[in-house]
This record gives sequence, structure tokens and C-alpha cells, in this order.
Amino acid sequence: MPTTHPNPHAIAGMITRLNDPHYSRWAAQLRATGGCRQPIQMRGHVLHVDRATGRLLHNYTTTGEPDGVLRMPCKTRRASRCPACAEVYRADTYQLIRAGLAGGKGVPASVTAHPCLFVTLTAPSFGVVHTRREKNGKVQPCHARRDAATCPHGRVMSCTARHGADESCLGEPLCPDCYDYTGSVLFNALAPQLWKYVTDALRRRVAKSAGLTLRELREHLMLSFAKVAEYQRRGVVHFHAVIRLDGPDGPTSPPPSWATAEMLADAVRHAAHAVTATIPAIDDEPARVLRWGRQLDIRQITMDGELSDQAVAGYIAKYATKAAECVGTLDRRINPLDDLQAFNLRDHLRRLIAECLRLGALDELADLRLAQWAHMLGFRGHFSTRSRHYSTTMGSIRDERRDFARTEEITTGRLPLFDEGTVLVIASWEYAGKGFSVGDALLAAALTGKPLPPPPVLGGGA
Ligand SMILES: [Zn+2]
Ligand SMILES: [Zn+2]
Ligand SMILES: [Zn+2]
Repeated sequence: MPTTHPNPHAIAGMITRLNDPHYSRWAAQLRATGGCRQPIQMRGHVLHVDRATGRLLHNYTTTGEPDGVLRMPCKTRRASRCPACAEVYRADTYQLIRAGLAGGKGVPASVTAHPCLFVTLTAPSFGVVHTRREKNGKVQPCHARRDAATCPHGRVMSCTARHGADESCLGEPLCPDCYDYTGSVLFNALAPQLWKYVTDALRRRVAKSAGLTLRELREHLMLSFAKVAEYQRRGVVHFHAVIRLDGPDGPTSPPPSWATAEMLADAVRHAAHAVTATIPAIDDEPARVLRWGRQLDIRQITMDGELSDQAVAGYIAKYATKAAECVGTLDRRINPLDDLQAFNLRDHLRRLIAECLRLGALDELADLRLAQWAHMLGFRGHFSTRSRHYSTTMGSIRDERRDFARTEEITTGRLPLFDEGTVLVIASWEYAGKGFSVGDALLAAALTGKPLPPPPVLGGGA
């Protein structure tokens, strides 16, 4: 990403763009990307040919566009990289989650009657960290202990401070030398597997409570999921999930009457506490058994109750556009040869990253790819996932929006109105780069009225 500080070079570039005879077309391209901060540049042409006569009806080429390229939105989900595209992703995720709770987008409204829970699965403790808790609107002391023990490193395991919401120590261990960095990183790495085990155990438990085999269960009901990962300040992921009971054909069919929210909640509780993932012993490291933390939150989603479909959809959509950088780590891969001291990171995060790099070098843990995912503190799963029958798909929501945009382009004269059955469309595109020059970045930020991203911590590519 180029630096977007208004230095003389950037200002000169901006003035050149403003004086360019193709300026208005450049600005139109910027608008068409929705204000994307790092548009993809494409070079190519599109031919519309009459199938019957072979006559060329329309010929579009990027040769006449500013810089000879067409700019397309980058479509990232990550707000730290492109606020405009992440906002589109957030809105699409909201629609998708909401449809699974309230109906719409091909899901019947009768889905509102299906038992549905909002579940938060947390990580276990890897050591005492500074926290902020409120009780009846009053901030509680962080970790007050009378006769607190002193750890082997000479630190007293007590903190009586009532921390502010933005205090930088939140999530930091009381003693970093006692903190189980290995466990934290391995938990992040195995969290997707633990989630998979929960869904398997859940199906088995539901089947058992109904006196059915797993195979028989499929003829009676289907479990649908949508989940999102969120980083806690201590640098471990936890998962928020919508878990819904459907009939055998998914959201269009009602679940059997014995499949209640209470039965589902009981099965979730059982599954979350039962599943484990094991890391075998390596050299002088003992074997480890990883499991979810004891904190488990299960709430029923209802249309008019305390936890509404809008609240849940909003919550999941919000976290779908965030990644580890919201706890202060980097949003790019780390090279094992990088000098970690040179990154402007909290000590706790630097230790988590260093642990990923250390464990990533062990052959026995190669499958976890910890070095590649060090910037994510070991987590390499997808941020938001849905089971196949949850509701609609991101693809069909995007198609719907593209059809709308296409209709607009036709009515405003940008695209010729041809019958797709009789016209052959031949397109040829090649990638020509990504992002803006420094001058264009400055101008784009001014035109789209969005704050400039902070400069990268280190030089070099993203
Ligand atoms: Zn973008
Ligand atoms: Zn504290
Ligand atoms: Zn200690």
C-alpha cells in the first residue's frame, strides 16, 4: 500500500491527476468501485457479437480508459485494508445471517419458529490477565487477591486497579513469564478443529436424546450453523455461533416437535464440555489436551425477546470484517527472518508471534502452519462460516447486487441493451496491478471523505 501522507511528491501526483483530460472518467471509476482503497486494475476488452451474423455490435476496450486500465473493487472483508469493501462485506453478511433467522432471500418466514440459539464458545485460561469487569454498572477491581501468591518470577498475582475501557494493559498477563504462550497459540491453531468436533458431538447427542442413530437423525432433522471468530484482547479466538434446528430438508421444513430449544441447549452444553483435541509430546514438551474454556454462553434468539435477530446479525456481521489486527497485531504475514523488535507491538503480542515462529519450526507441528499464521497468533481458520443450508450464500447476494448494478448501467446508457441469447460476449482480461499511486491515493481519500490508513509499520510489500 503506498504511503498517503501529503508529501510534495504525492501532492504533485494529485495535481497531475486533477489536470488530466481524463480526470472525470477517473473519478467515475473511483465512484464505481464504491471508494475502494486498493482497487484491482484490469486491462482488456469485451466484444459483443451477433450470434447469427457474426457482426460486431459493441466493442469495449480499456485502451481509452485513464492509464489504460479499469479499476474494480478489491472486495476484501478486512476493514483495516479497505473500509469501503469491508462495509459491503459486512452488509452482505448481515443480510445472510438475518435471512437465516427471520426469513427472506429464499428462506421462508416460518424459519422464525425453529429453535435457534446464539452460542459463545470461549478459550480456557492460559494465565491471569488484566481485565475489566462491570457489576451493576460499577467497574470491579481487576484481580484483587488478599494474601496473593508471589510467582516464581517475584511478581505478586494481584491487581486492585479498576481499569478504564481503553487501558493498554487489558489482556496483558500479570506475569508474562508465567503465561502459557504455547497453550494460547496451540489453542488458536486447533480452534477450528474443536469447533468441528462440537458440531459432530452435537449431532450425536441430539440423536441419542431422541433415541435415534446418526443415520436416522438425518431423516428427522438438520442442524444449521453460522459462526464467526472474534479475538479477545489476550490474543485468543472465541467463536460466536448461531445454531438452528431444521426439519430434514433444511430451513423450508419444520423440525420435529421433540426438537426444542431446551434440548438443543442441553446438547450444546454437553458437546462443548466433552470435546478435546490432543497435541502429542514433542522433545521436552509434554503432550497437551486442548478444550474449550468453562465460560459458555447460550442464549435463545427470538423475534421479540431480549436477543433479537437484528442484534445477532449485526454482531456476527461486525466481527466478520475484523481480524487479529484489532487486538494490535499486524495484518500481513511475518517472515521468520523479520526482526520482531522492529515491529511496533505490545510485548504480549510479540511473545505470541515469537511462540508461533518457534513452534512453526518443529516438524511435528508442520501441519498447523504456525509460522505462516503467526500474524494471526496461530489461528488459520475462516473468520465467518456457514453450514450449507443455513440461508442463502454470499455468492447469490453478490449476484443480486451485480444484476442491480448492471440494470443501472443499461438504463444510464453505459452498457448496450442486448438479448443475451442472441449475443456472444467475448471478454479478455488481464491483471494490471493493485492500489493507487501516492498522488491518486491522496486524491481518492479526499474525494471519498474517508480517513487515511496509518502508514505501514515496516517498509516492503503487504
Ligand atoms: Zn476495496
Ligand atoms: Zn489489572
Ligand atoms: Zn511469573
